[in-house]
Amino acid sequence: GNLLGALGITSIVLVIAYLTVGGYQQRLEEMATIDHLTRAVSRQAFDLLFSQAIHSTNRHDGGVLSVIMLDIDFFKHVNDTYGHAAGDYVLQSFVQIVNDTIRSIDSVFRFGGEEFAVHLHNTDEIGAKLLAERIRLNVESTIMRYKGSSIPVTVSSGIATLEKIDNGQSLMERADKALYQAKNNGRNQVQAS
Ligand code: GH3
Ligand code: MG
Ligand code: MG
Repeated sequence: GNLLGALGITSIVLVIAYLTVGGYQQRLEEMATIDHLTRAVSRQAFDLLFSQAIHSTNRHDGGVLSVIMLDIDFFKHVNDTYGHAAGDYVLQSFVQIVNDTIRSIDSVFRFGGEEFAVHLHNTDEIGAKLLAERIRLNVESTIMRYKGSSIPVTVSSGIATLEKIDNGQSLMERADKALYQAKNNGRNQVQAS
């Protein structure tokens, strides 16, 4: 009797939890506008989801969170040489490569132009570096063909891993700084802050 009662209560709690999480997820999805061109998640959604990721990382003992900032190299040159439509195609292919490389729980966000960010849940600096390097290699080794042209594309990235003293802004600033170093060091590379 007791056991059955406990099971019943557990079931009810599980159903309620399921419905709550489902509704919440749906609300997030509505807010999380998707970039038309690339199907990456928008900048606005980034701010919301990022602060959530930071909160949940800080709540869990030993939680880790990393971020990668990505910026396509000499993208203006792609537009100037192959045309704006080819540039659009490169942006779409790029996001597809990033999505194919990261895990399905992590999302790619379009920050603007040819600049993107990825949150990496439960990923320390070593893991983030490995992943960013894999993205870099996959981009470099993919021949993007558009209307008879083969367009060579490379990407630079900066990594930061959440520290106790960080908030969202300081974490992003460190990733940005690392990206700046990657650009200055000659591009087509990964730097950590
Ligand atoms: P760097 O290696 O230093 O990053 O140089 P870059 O040329 O990639 O950077 P820059 O910021 O000078 O140029 C970015 C270009 O991206 C300029 C802008 O016209 C182009 N761009 C931004 N959004 C889009 C888009 O949606 N489609 C296309 N085709 N081009 C875009
Ligand atoms: Mg660029
Ligand atoms: Mg840029």
